[in-house]
Parts: sequence; C-alpha cells; structure tokens
Amino acid sequence: MSLPLICDLSRDELAAWCQAQGEETYRADQIRKWIFGKRVNDFEAMTDLSAGLRHKLAESFVIFSSDIARHQKSKDGTEKLLVELRDSEKVECVLMREDDRRTICISTQVGCGMGCVFCASGLLGLSRNLSTGEIVEQILRLDRLLPPLERITNIVVMGMGEPLANLPSLLKALGTLDEKGGLGLSPRRITISTVGLPEKIRELAHFGKPYNLAVSLHAPNDALRNELVPVNKTIGIEAILSAADEFFEQTGRRVTYEYVVLGGRNDSVEEARELAGLLRGRNAHINLIPMNAVSELPFHDPEAECLRKFVEVLEQSGVTTTVRKRKGADIDAACGQLRLRNAGVQASARDV
Ligand code: SAH
Repeated sequence: MSLPLICDLSRDELAAWCQAQGEETYRADQIRKWIFGKRVNDFEAMTDLSAGLRHKLAESFVIFSSDIARHQKSKDGTEKLLVELRDSEKVECVLMREDDRRTICISTQVGCGMGCVFCASGLLGLSRNLSTGEIVEQILRLDRLLPPLERITNIVVMGMGEPLANLPSLLKALGTLDEKGGLGLSPRRITISTVGLPEKIRELAHFGKPYNLAVSLHAPNDALRNELVPVNKTIGIEAILSAADEFFEQTGRRVTYEYVVLGGRNDSVEEARELAGLLRGRNAHINLIPMNAVSELPFHDPEAECLRKFVEVLEQSGVTTTVRKRKGADIDAACGQLRLRNAGVQASARDV
C-alpha cells in the first residue's frame, strides 16, 4: 500500500503525529521548514532530526506522490508542469515570471464538472477532487523550479477544476502555507477564482482569511451566460453578485470579475454597456481575458478594435478594467490544454 503524503497534514496534525511518536511537537516545524523553506525532497537530508525520527518519517510518509509527466518552458519565462498523480490522473500547474513577481497557477480538481463551453479543462468532464496534499504538492513542485533566493510571491487558483467545489481540501492546503514552517505566503497574495457558487462564496467570505475572490462572469445577462456557462441555469447572475457583495462586505477585499472575451459572442458594445451597468457602483474590478484558442473548440479571440471599444465603454462608465496579458502562449499554458493534448496523444498512440 502506498504511504500518505506528508503535506496532507496541517501543522497541528503533524505536531500531533510527532507527539504520538514520543517526539517534541516543535519537530513538526523543523520538518515543515525542511520541506517548504529548504526544498528538501528526502527525509534523510533533515539533519537536525534524530536518525530514529527520520526513519519513522520515511516509513510513514512520502513528500511527493506525483511524477512530472511533462515540463514545458516558454520563451517568456513561463513554465508549465503536467503532474501525474498516483492513479495516473494528470493535472496542470504553471509558474509565471513578471518583474519581481513569481506567480503560480494551481489546479484543484482532475478535469472540471462546470462545462464552460470555451474551456479545455471541462471537455473531459470531472474525474475527481484533489486531496490537500496533491494541491500542496503542485506548489512545492513549482517552488523548486525557482533558484535558491527566489520565492513564490502570488498564487492564483485558476488551473483545472472549480476551487469552490473542493473548498475544504483547498482551504486546508492554503492554510498550511502561512502557518509556521510554511512558505510564509499571506492570504492577501492568493486569489481564488470561481464559476460563481453563491453558498460557497459566502462560506469563503466568513472563513476569516483575506483571500482574494475572482468571479468568472463572462456574460452580462442570464440568457447569454446560460449558453456560455451552463451551470448558470440553476444559479443566475443576481445570486452570484449578491454573494460577491457579501464577500466584499465581510473581507474588505475588492472582488475581481473575469470576463473571457469571445470574438463575436460576448464582445459587442451593447454587451459592454450591460456589463458596466451590472458592475458600476459595486466595489469591483473587471479583468478581461481574450479567449485562448483551443483547437477542439469553435471560439476565437476578439478583433483588436472590438476589444478596444469594449474596454473604452467600461472605463467611461467608471469600471476599473484590465486586460490580461497572455503568458506562455507557445506552451499551451491556458488551463487544461496540455492535459487535453496529452490525452489525445495517448488515445491515438493506443489506436495504433
Ligand atoms: N473554475 C474556476 C477556475 C478555473 S479557470 C472558474 O471558473 O473561475 C480560470 C479562468 O480561466 C476562468 O475565468 C475561466 O473561465 C478562464 N478560461 C477557461 N478557458 C479559457 C480559455 N480558453 N481562454 C481564456 N480563458 C479561459
């Protein structure tokens, strides 16, 4: 039987494990410092622990349960890992470099059950949730791509899956980062992106940590959103906006609305006006994401002129607007694309 992942345990749980072995609880912080701070991949290298404790750790846990199935590097410094889990399922995670920022993008599920029509992650449906340890493992893998003196500065939970559909595992994983011995990354530097699950947004609002929330809106009215984001049929934009307002009231963190701009589908001046009407007066910010082409899907990015007008309408209405820069375009860095391609390659290899 395979051993549990040590990063499935919170700091308190690891301290309790140490105590059960007849060790002092502060050993947990030493172990965590080796794993998170000193990037050690082997219990044997933890030289301030007794040989007996190192042996017990190695008999009880693994630090990594995954393999790196593919590692791609973009010309712009973006790196992407396709991580193969114990059950051969695969997830993607990405490291992006910009000035002093080292931002990583992580996955929370294998595949996705939300079915957004322009997204590669959902094409194969949802396989399963990731465990806490599997989420932390992506962070450790990406952190180890950085040189010794560089650290992850920001995390966006915008990889594969719907984070709020796996909230307990995600919150436990993120929680271990700012506990003693962790990466020392404040919740303020972490953004959780959701398709918009109102009850879960409220749960996050009342959780008590200042994470940032990004809501994937993608359409200014329910008729269009029902087409692009099918789960909207049972939710509706109004319920999402009111949960997001509550998130802002509770946390004081300004909500970001994401809007994938699909050429000819949601990028008209009329739609920009409608969107401005929804967000004006809310303490919100809109992040436009020009569609990343997915060869299996019939959508494309907007004409430059349409995008320019769209931005102009929003800004003239007083809505703070940014357009997301593309990163790693040469390495299929949009979420789900690498896994999808890999699945395709394997399927055709099996066919031969
Ligand atoms: N399920 C979450 C997080 C995962 S996706 C959510 O819906 O927010 C992160 C963001 O990338 C979402 O806004 C998603 O809609 C967007 N996205 C998905 N496919 C895309 C594509 N092909 N091009 C541009 N953005 C895309």
